[in-house]
Amino acid sequence: MSNVYLARVSSSASTAEIEDKIRLLIKKSDLLRVVTSNDLTAVKCHFGEEGNSTYLPANYIKQVVEAITKVGARPFVTDTNVLYKSRRDNSYDHLQLAREHGFSHETLQAPVIIADGIKGKNEKEILIEAPQNRTVFIASDYVDADSLIVITHATGHLATGLGATIKNLGMGMASRKGKLRQHSVSHPLIDAKNCTACEKCLQWCPSDAIKMVSSNSGNKHHYAQINDEDCIGCGECLATCRMGAVKFKWDSSSKFLQQQIVEHALGIVKIKKDKMAYLTFLVQMTKDCDCLPQAAEFVVEDIGILAGFDPVALDQAVLDLTTRKNGKDNLATLSYAAHDPSIQLEYGEQVGLGQREYQLIEI
Ligand code: SF4
Ligand code: SF4
Repeated sequence: MSNVYLARVSSSASTAEIEDKIRLLIKKSDLLRVVTSNDLTAVKCHFGEEGNSTYLPANYIKQVVEAITKVGARPFVTDTNVLYKSRRDNSYDHLQLAREHGFSHETLQAPVIIADGIKGKNEKEILIEAPQNRTVFIASDYVDADSLIVITHATGHLATGLGATIKNLGMGMASRKGKLRQHSVSHPLIDAKNCTACEKCLQWCPSDAIKMVSSNSGNKHHYAQINDEDCIGCGECLATCRMGAVKFKWDSSSKFLQQQIVEHALGIVKIKKDKMAYLTFLVQMTKDCDCLPQAAEFVVEDIGILAGFDPVALDQAVLDLTTRKNGKDNLATLSYAAHDPSIQLEYGEQVGLGQREYQLIEI
């Protein structure tokens, strides 16, 4: 059974109170036992999409950086590039955006690095021998780091229900090739009846897979259409369309995606297991993840911060604590009820990523 540590934080807590809780949690959980003096330590976080305002702020990350520096290690703060069209799809623009969001060497007192290189191609192939993948592709700098602290903002997620620790590992640490493989079966369709031809999805599609077409009927109607051969299944059109015109076959594709995410998470955990630790924030829990560029809807009141060494146990705790807070539904079902987030937890246990049984220790 894994230990999961909880520092409670209420929605009215000030930034200074949350920073105190982060420092206390690091100490009480002995989180930095995975970090050795002189280690190059990756601090994995998310710098927030342009327009998003609910990502974890840089001053939370700074508390972790300072604690790592105190044990004599050399922290660097890092994330990977994304698949879709965004200022986070290459390291140059990604780092500029990170700086605008407060993440810089000056503010954090640590270098900020994009772990998979300028275009997301710097990767290491890791042998996992799992049911769906013999090998997975992980961003090089995570593999090369001596130790890793993974900082996660728990949110809902449009394709998996839950976007928390496992998702931050599996999708967040994969190179471009790794991310593509995870999305390989989730291809959407556009319902012409609901499409208003606003063309927003065309602007966001990273593969230029969407074109405008016209119906041949007397009443000419323009609508967007996806070319399945060009589609990489990234889901950006679904996130972008405000008319509900984009549909996914969720039941099969969400299961596949969750299992792929778990296998990619296994890739990094398998080679770094005793050199990894996690902080997962249950604050500002939004329906969608921090990759979305718009103001987000809060679905659960703030609960606190979790610390631990087992990503499966941590995400089980996210579901349990949000159920208790809400009285009935968990973070995932409150966000996207059509998805079953327990798929990633059960599969995580099955392939040896961690275990769902845990002991909650409140500090
Ligand atoms: S974003 Fe939606 S409504 Fe706009 S063109 Fe695309 S599918 Fe149609
Ligand atoms: S899911 Fe396919 S069509 Fe939609 S944005 Fe991604 S690549 Fe384009």
